[in-house]
Amino acid sequence: MSAERSRLIDVLDLPIPLASFGKMAKKYPKGAKLSQVGFRFWVRSAGEQCFGCITCEAEDRADFNRLTGEMTFGGMIVCPDCGCKRCPKATQHDNACTGSNDPGQAGSIYA
Ligand SMILES: [Zn+2]
Ligand SMILES: [Zn+2]
Repeated sequence: MSAERSRLIDVLDLPIPLASFGKMAKKYPKGAKLSQVGFRFWVRSAGEQCFGCITCEAEDRADFNRLTGEMTFGGMIVCPDCGCKRCPKATQHDNACTGSNDPGQAGSIYA
């Protein structure tokens, strides 16, 4: 079984009343992770969390939009290994890092 990617499953406005934490714990699947982002909690399902690629970030933004009706805008995404935006790994984390910012690399969304 290949590792499921951690997906954004809920977005909660802060502050959250302490009394509702117990209810929340039951509501979310086992292993769900909460992290504070600005004035909100993002609830993510268990799984591998990507540390930044354009594909996963687009999924997170679509999930965020579906959950809140708001758009979110991330900054420019670069490869976590080499820092290049045209590296194929910046587009999809399964791609190998080329350490290069050359245009026209296979697997990169940047032409
Ligand atoms: Zn990713
Ligand atoms: Zn890279």
